[in-house]
Amino acid sequence: MQIFLARTQGFCAGVARAIEVVEQTLAAYGTPLYIFHEIVHNTSVVNGFKARGVVFVDDIAAIPEGQRVIFSAHGISPAVLEEAKKKNLITINATCPLVTKIHRESEGFSRQNIPVVLIGHKGHEEVVGTSGHVRPDLLHIISTRADIEKLDIDPRLKVAYVTQTTLSVDDTRELVRLLREKFSLLTGPLHEDICYATQSRQDAIKELASLCGPKGLIIICGSSNSSNSNRLMEKGQQLGVTSIIVDNAGDLDLTVIDGKENIGISSGASVPRYLVDEIVLKIRAVCPRAELINFDNPEKHVVFPLPRI
Ligand code: SF4
Repeated sequence: MQIFLARTQGFCAGVARAIEVVEQTLAAYGTPLYIFHEIVHNTSVVNGFKARGVVFVDDIAAIPEGQRVIFSAHGISPAVLEEAKKKNLITINATCPLVTKIHRESEGFSRQNIPVVLIGHKGHEEVVGTSGHVRPDLLHIISTRADIEKLDIDPRLKVAYVTQTTLSVDDTRELVRLLREKFSLLTGPLHEDICYATQSRQDAIKELASLCGPKGLIIICGSSNSSNSNRLMEKGQQLGVTSIIVDNAGDLDLTVIDGKENIGISSGASVPRYLVDEIVLKIRAVCPRAELINFDNPEKHVVFPLPRI
């Protein structure tokens, strides 16, 4: 048996930055420290910070007046910032710069009075945050072909689209094509908003799928609320390889590897490497002769600068 580790996986530059923001804030000011929403969608990362006294909240009202709060990598709506100001909170923004770019695009379209179709999953924190940067009467959130059919916008109008950063690249391309069919004046970002990390991790799954073949197995390490991790699992399945998602080695039921010729392992953009290493160890404990194959990661030098802390 061979175990292939995906070429690109694990922490993206936005997640690494958000975690470093928390680390540096803890080092400089200690606790009490509040984080609005999960800093990144990973149970292990969040629990690690909770154990060090960090408090996670989903409502600014839950933070006492004047305290320090970090906004998560997924971004916030302007209304959240306003609420924080009213409570005299000390704010630190760990929003990924690639999400901030989408906020700016959305504001620009709103200023020009252009209806904005936001392709994303309703209720996901990034989509909620981005929605707040679009004028409410111009906002339309869609995630499926059926949603496009139901869009109530004059097809002669100029219409803009923006997307959540962690969607399936292929599915989103198809949705944009359908939007373009419906709205001939469709405009969008210069480059797709799906971020580099999402794209490269999905490409790496295509590579894993061809290496593992239909008798193989793809294991995605990621939390169930992580959008990009779920897209990786779906991509493996679409390519005909049995694919599963597990939060950590403890969640991995080893009977799934019975009869599998090869195993591919990847992880979502918010997953620390040690969780993947523990999965590899667990498999090798029962398959000691399995050969572990690593690839050079082309993204290892991508770093986003930190905000002021
Ligand atoms: S997945 Fe992309 S958009 Fe999200 S934090 Fe990472 S780099 Fe930023």
